[in-house]
Amino acid sequence: MNSLGLLLFKLAAEINLSNRKVPKSIVIGSGIAGIAAAIRLKAKGHEVDVYETNAYPGGKLSEFTQQGFRFDAGPSLFTMPSYVDELFALCNENAGEHFNYDRLSVVCHYFYNDGASFKADSDIDQLAVTLENTMGEERGTVSKYFKKSALIYRITTPVFLENSLHKISTYFNRKGLYGILNLWRLNLFTTMHDSNKQHFRNPKTQQFFDRFATYNGSNPYKAPATLNVIPHLEFGIGAYFPKKGMFSITSSLVELAERHGVKFHYNSRVERIVTEKGKVKGVLVNNDTVTADNVICNADVTPVYRHLLPQLKMPLKVKKAEPSSSALIFYWGIKQQFKDLELHNIFFSDNYKAEFDTIFTKQTIGDDITVYVNISSKYKMDDAPEGCENWFVMVNAPANTGQDWDVLITKTRQHIITKLSRLLKVDIAALIVSESILDPRSIEQRTSSNKGALYGNSSNKRMSAFLRHANFKSSVKGLYFCGGSVHPGGGIPLSLLSAKITAGLIP
Ligand code: FAD
Repeated sequence: MNSLGLLLFKLAAEINLSNRKVPKSIVIGSGIAGIAAAIRLKAKGHEVDVYETNAYPGGKLSEFTQQGFRFDAGPSLFTMPSYVDELFALCNENAGEHFNYDRLSVVCHYFYNDGASFKADSDIDQLAVTLENTMGEERGTVSKYFKKSALIYRITTPVFLENSLHKISTYFNRKGLYGILNLWRLNLFTTMHDSNKQHFRNPKTQQFFDRFATYNGSNPYKAPATLNVIPHLEFGIGAYFPKKGMFSITSSLVELAERHGVKFHYNSRVERIVTEKGKVKGVLVNNDTVTADNVICNADVTPVYRHLLPQLKMPLKVKKAEPSSSALIFYWGIKQQFKDLELHNIFFSDNYKAEFDTIFTKQTIGDDITVYVNISSKYKMDDAPEGCENWFVMVNAPANTGQDWDVLITKTRQHIITKLSRLLKVDIAALIVSESILDPRSIEQRTSSNKGALYGNSSNKRMSAFLRHANFKSSVKGLYFCGGSVHPGGGIPLSLLSAKITAGLIP
């Protein structure tokens, strides 16, 4: 092409570009998936506005301070950091300049009621040695278990977690066919616990591996053994801690989004999603109708149908879904440091089966409970004043169905104090210098999550993965969904994947 031709070509391209309308997208909610979806759409060239009810971003992934102690309010365990890094890469930025994390060498310290304990080393070979020495398991059995866990990961991730389950194209390619042909290897017809019981002789080891069901708010005595993939995420790929605390996942991504032009509107609850003739028109927010080509709901899908989309019928599978477990959390400022405790610590109950029955069937909190203590000041020392620690003390709880939470809180607080005081050989009550409490009611109220569930729906049914809401609404063009309550599920990694799937579906 000669120089005149080139000039004419460039001119024509510019005219074409300037005529092309920039697509406008609205994201409802600034949970981690909402922020990630906003970044992805901005990178695609959309104009993006995020509307958030709260005065702060992050939803469940937020932080607060109390009397000199800083707390991450929700998630404390960070896996799959590459899903955060890739958002920086997408915007041509170097993640390391804004967001850093370390791999944990000890993932968690486990304590049993009879005084037994072990530290779970992140190295699988070392963990196998520990389980051999403390629980009498054969090393080879532990290694074999982790190989199976890694296999489930390889089969499920490319097909079932990184793609929409509701698009036929997901199944008609090499990876899709590999997933379908290998479905039989996913142990869908065995429960997590039964599979763990087949592998390990010591009930304490079984309890350790059963515990991973709680990572998506499920019951190991009901959830399919496919979820035994989770140990691979924690040990095979790794457990991490962001150098500036969990909330820095939210804050660094919000800053990234803002640097690239995403607009965040806080204190802005979306009241309605406006649709017309099978197409999204925009949202009603701050007494105004804001138009958009696409609306992406990051808010929990159940209240979205109930309040924002009264013009649509709530799908039966949303209406009937069993919510995941919720939690009761005590944020304690502790005026002592505990050398024996790690960042993550678990104090198991005696009867794990009864504990899950109490949560999911009786829908209450029992007396024999598993207590999780997270202490971020072990890594981020300025999270607590000198000589002190910030204890995030959590027990699993049922979703909110109107239980008498005040009574349950008083009773459970006493059980936790008695248990920890006995196992740590010190009067814990005397060490608490500040306290605040989060329960299923307040989780529901602060994050609009259905009944205060932490992870959307439970995975207690064999087909739960297929019962989650899709990332799009086929009857309404331009309406999409992301976040822990839709496909592929709850937790930070899956919420980030939901944003990736959703953004990938938007033209
Ligand atoms: P959410 O965090 O649910 O946020 C949704 C946002 O939408 C909220 O900010 C809400 O205010 C906003 N919103 C709702 N309705 C509207 C509206 N009408 N208009 C405007 N805004 C609206 N995950 C892990 O990976 N590791 C852990 O260790 C872990 N521990 C957890 C512990 C606790 C106590 C909790 C609560 C959760 C934990 N999780 C953990 C789960 C994890 O936090 C969630 O799965 C994930 O953060 C969900 O993100 P999301 O994008 O779905 O949005």
